[in-house]
Amino acid sequence: MTAPTFPMHVSVDDARAHLTALLPARTPETVSLAQAYGRTLAHDVPALVSHPSATESALDGIAARAADTLGAAPDTPVRLRVIGESRAGAAFTGTVGAGECVRIYTGAPLPAGADAICPVEQLTDDGPDGVLLRRPASPADVRVEGGDFRAGEVVLHAGQHLTAPRLALAAALGHARLSVQRRLRVALLSTGDEVVPPGQPLTAGQVYDSNSVGLHAMLLEAGCEVLPLGHAPDSPQALQSAIDAAGGADVLLTSGGVSMGKYDFMRDLLVEQGRVSFWKVRMRPGGPAILGGWNGLPVFGLPGNPVSSLVVFHVIVRPALTGQPPQTLRLRAATPFRALPDKTAFWRGVIDGGQVRDYGQQGSGILRSLSDAGALVIVPEGQAVQAGDNVDVILL
Ligand code: AMP
Ligand code: MG
Repeated sequence: MTAPTFPMHVSVDDARAHLTALLPARTPETVSLAQAYGRTLAHDVPALVSHPSATESALDGIAARAADTLGAAPDTPVRLRVIGESRAGAAFTGTVGAGECVRIYTGAPLPAGADAICPVEQLTDDGPDGVLLRRPASPADVRVEGGDFRAGEVVLHAGQHLTAPRLALAAALGHARLSVQRRLRVALLSTGDEVVPPGQPLTAGQVYDSNSVGLHAMLLEAGCEVLPLGHAPDSPQALQSAIDAAGGADVLLTSGGVSMGKYDFMRDLLVEQGRVSFWKVRMRPGGPAILGGWNGLPVFGLPGNPVSSLVVFHVIVRPALTGQPPQTLRLRAATPFRALPDKTAFWRGVIDGGQVRDYGQQGSGILRSLSDAGALVIVPEGQAVQAGDNVDVILL
């Protein structure tokens, strides 16, 4: 290989920026709520209605005037006259006067004149039209109209990822359809002569293709459309034809064949016949990742080691695809975590009792850590973590 004409050993942030720069601008499309799960909002979303839509009761009980009930206690109950009922969907139309109340149920509109609620647990019936309160009626159990959100208020924002709670909120705001960013189409290819699809027999020296499965699922979680290209052996010709099959994709994600080995043809292909944005990232695991292009198609080459490809996906690929930085949590370290002089380390950690401890086996080939360790502990270049320090972690 001749002297490289592209950046090498870039920072994690620079790697993410390079990938972001190669992705197409996102155009919006309008989809139903059912189709919007996992997508990214293209526009701010205003409330079309207020919630609650009317001032209402938060409890089952009676609605009354708080001032009438101030002395109510178990030994000195206050008697009110029941003049009607307000239930969800059928409001009481009269006005509550002095010494009066209305039976009310959760979500039912508060009648005119009333300003407080006494819960049913604190009531005893007293004759056909009377009720005794063992506690004062409380204004805190009234939900004020628009107390959650008001019509016209922007409640969800462009760029937000549509999680289940946000979708439910969009429905409550009054929207049946949402404007979301078009899904990125991501082609996915695993490489390696030794890599075998699960379900087939395995001989010594072979390994099941776990990367295709894990990356496919993570791409779906990131709101992408996946074009599975399966697997290609370690040959330049086979790789080229597999990549040619990715036409129409916005980006190709490969795993394997990007390191220093003689048979790492993905790297060779990009370096010698394609275009390279960078090779190698100052991180562990995941250092050998490469970004480039082939006939106008952006190609991100993940390392083959499953732990490495998972980590690179979490810290570089997903943030670029979704436009959202990795979500981190600050936790107390229960054990030390070692630093590397010139790389950011993403050690697998186990979260337990609000703290994070070293998972122990930190090799890139330890597949069980993908499932057993719930977190990646971020240790910046040269900044060792002692037990008791606070660290940033990414949840897996
Ligand atoms: P490579 O990056 O091609 O040198 O591969 C590094 C290590 O990851 C080797 O031990 C490979 O066998 C393993 N590996 C490569 N691709 C996959 C895959 N798709 N699934 C599981 N392991 C893989
Ligand atoms: Mg390989």
